[in-house]
Amino acid sequence: RTSNDIVLPGALAEAYQLDGALGSGAFGTVWRATHIDSGELVAIKVIERTRQLVEDFRLELNEAEILKSLDHPNIVQLKELAADPSGDGCFLVMELVDGGHLQASLDEHGAYEDAHAAEIFRQVAEAVAYLHARNITHRDIKPENILFVRGAGLTVKLTDFGMSTMKDGKLTTLCGTPSYCAPELLLGDGYGKAVDMWSLGVLAFVLVCAALPFVSSTREGLFEKIKKGGYEFPSTKQVSTTAQDLITRLLKTNPMQRYSSREALQHPWLTGDDGLATTHN
Ligand code: ADP
Ligand code: MG
Repeated sequence: RTSNDIVLPGALAEAYQLDGALGSGAFGTVWRATHIDSGELVAIKVIERTRQLVEDFRLELNEAEILKSLDHPNIVQLKELAADPSGDGCFLVMELVDGGHLQASLDEHGAYEDAHAAEIFRQVAEAVAYLHARNITHRDIKPENILFVRGAGLTVKLTDFGMSTMKDGKLTTLCGTPSYCAPELLLGDGYGKAVDMWSLGVLAFVLVCAALPFVSSTREGLFEKIKKGGYEFPSTKQVSTTAQDLITRLLKTNPMQRYSSREALQHPWLTGDDGLATTHN
């Protein structure tokens, strides 16, 4: 796709100049753009929708108004939102966060050393705590949705937030990576904010191990493993006992026993006041 294929709706077309594609995922493509008057660089996510879903889509546009009011240093700021006049699409104008996503970094460099993993994890946990305090469940926490701020060290921002409300029960099969799905989501008898805490558990594991806790060659096999909740830390990696402790408290199959975002933020792995010697990689 080139930017010539995308037609911005009236008001956006006058205000922004599309520059090029930044990335794409299950729900559309994200473009780099420039606000013509201010010169500010932004990212515009184009969500394409099929006609059958237009009804639900209107409701989601209202939810997006709430997302616009979110303001947190570790959450990508949503600036503007516009519907395609044809009703088939939606355009989200966001702050540009162009230091690449965490998955790319993990693929390139492997696991993070303990302190760096904790620093990245803490910021995502802060973002999730902020969302949860506002009754928003992200539902798609994974390294591809965590972006580095260019030139700002390990500073990260969570993206793709709230739009995951589109990914309700009917649409879970569309999700690209089921590896981060909580067991209760797979069981299909209702779920809440705790699904994000499970995904954070998988994220913490991935940060320190550069491997997923639940792996199978088939989707069914993977779902079985997640529902059982059995996993092991790779013998080749020396994961600190503090990191292991937090991961264990997040990867609880029973959502009632799982740590909340507040509890996670108070854990010694993130506060550093452990009192005990910590093993580093
Ligand atoms: P999807 O729902 O399709 O997964 P995302 O919102 O995750 O869409 O965006 C897909 C990709 O686009 C991300 O993995 C990232 O590479 C890029 N991207 C998303 N938001 C931004 C942003 N605000 N700034 C820069 N790149 C972004
Ligand atoms: Mg995404």
